[in-house]
Amino acid sequence: MAAIAEGLTLDETALAEFHAGFRGEIVGREDPTYDEHRKVWNGSIDRRPALIARCAGVADVIASVRFGRKHGLPVAVRSGGHSFPGLSVADDAFLIDLGSMKGIRVDPEARTARVQAGVLLGELDRETQAFGLAAPSGIVTHTGVAGLTLGGGIGWNQRKHGLSIDKLRRVDVVTADGELVKASADENADLFWGVRGGGGNFGIVTEFEFDLVPVGPMVMAGPIMWPMDDAPEVLRFYRDWVADAPDELMTILIHRKAPPLPFVPEELHGKLVVMVVCYWAGEVEDGEKAIRPIKEFGRPVADVCVPRPFLEHQAMFDPSFVPGRWYYFKSCDVPALTDEIIDITVDHCSRISSPLNSFPIWQMGGAVSRVGEDETAFNGRGAGFTYNIGASTATAEGFDGEREWVRGFWSALEPHFTTVYVNFLMDEGEDRVRQAYGAEKYDRLQALKRKYDPDNFFRLNQNISPA
Ligand SMILES: Cc1cc2nc3c(=O)[nH]c(=O)nc-3n(C[C@H](O)[C@H](O)[C@H](O)COP(=O)(O)OP(=O)(O)OC[C@H]3O[C@@H](n4cnc5c(N)ncnc54)[C@H](O)[C@@H]3O)c2cc1C
Repeated sequence: MAAIAEGLTLDETALAEFHAGFRGEIVGREDPTYDEHRKVWNGSIDRRPALIARCAGVADVIASVRFGRKHGLPVAVRSGGHSFPGLSVADDAFLIDLGSMKGIRVDPEARTARVQAGVLLGELDRETQAFGLAAPSGIVTHTGVAGLTLGGGIGWNQRKHGLSIDKLRRVDVVTADGELVKASADENADLFWGVRGGGGNFGIVTEFEFDLVPVGPMVMAGPIMWPMDDAPEVLRFYRDWVADAPDELMTILIHRKAPPLPFVPEELHGKLVVMVVCYWAGEVEDGEKAIRPIKEFGRPVADVCVPRPFLEHQAMFDPSFVPGRWYYFKSCDVPALTDEIIDITVDHCSRISSPLNSFPIWQMGGAVSRVGEDETAFNGRGAGFTYNIGASTATAEGFDGEREWVRGFWSALEPHFTTVYVNFLMDEGEDRVRQAYGAEKYDRLQALKRKYDPDNFFRLNQNISPA
């Protein structure tokens, strides 16, 4: 027998056979690259899987599932590794790592893209933008397409074009039995419903096919900034301004300490500010006109909302979400920015202490809200705004205090909550997962789980238990 972790042994012949047939790389605890490959984005997560199967293709994924199943190993699945609570790695687990599966094929005529599970958002944008196209996705380039899409996928193009799942045509899934199945509107439609919001509960998605939409390559986009003292008036004006906004306008509110960047006046570096980050999903000239009212409100201290390449805008938040820092989040949706919610927001944001904190409040609605609640497993299409309250420190130092700040802010909003986006949950237990889907949808997801994964083989995720 071979020891692969404390108290965990595997039959040596079985392990050797698995190695021999594998096209990718199998990394164990003794390998020099082990530490590199067990890392995830959130630096506060430090877990030691027993074995890492770095899959090169679908055959490796199938072999890994069958191997994990046969030997009763707890299985974690990782694509981009950006799960906030680090659900894609676990102590003593068998980690099926899809990060090397980087295939992307864009068909510019059909306006579709086939994307393997290890692709990151920036990699997909790079390929699609070569043809002036994009798949609606998220706002940080190093996030994984897979986990983001399986939870829903919110981003700059959502109000015009919908969520990532609203442009999903088909997926290839390796089920808990180690079989490859397709799911689309015409084939395994129940599974297709489930993977559009239900996360990795029903199998490992090895490939996604998206419809693409025309985007850029130049877009009108960027932040406009005011001192935090102006936030009560800025937020009220903003709320009224976006109330009847066309779908082309997408905005994100940021409260933070101003970073020492060239476009920020020096005297504001390190001082609290509020930013309205705008994005216009249409012609630049129309965007300039539409965004003018917020640019002219009060006395902005910086305004870099200008025509710029879409790819540049997509990378704008990257410096705020550097891999390896310590992160903590709590999230919720609210129907509207009422005066009370604005007051809570200003009160808590005036007490931001870490210079690394930079969390988004997302404007929802538009095309997202026009897809029926029951059409996909994603829940919360009626949300007005999504709060993704987050804090970050460079190391463990100061982290506990930041976490308390997040919790306090979130608790103050609790009387106003509606739904919560499943991809913005921490490890908060089954009740919160149920809350994310709502009782009715959760029941439907459980029935689907019983059909596709009755033993809960895929359970290291925002888990929908089959029971
Ligand atoms: C910096 C940052 C920015 C973000 N920005 C956005 C945003 O703009 N919009 C948005 O909607 N969300 C955003 N998110 C949240 C993001 O959608 C989730 O964290 C998502 O789970 C990340 O996917 P991943 O593949 O990188 O993660 P992973 O950690 O690899 O996986 C996340 C979960 O999905 C499962 N999983 C991963 N791959 C597969 C697969 N191929 N098949 C089956 N299950 C799988 C994992 O087991 C795990 O439970 C952001 C997160 C971070 C950290």
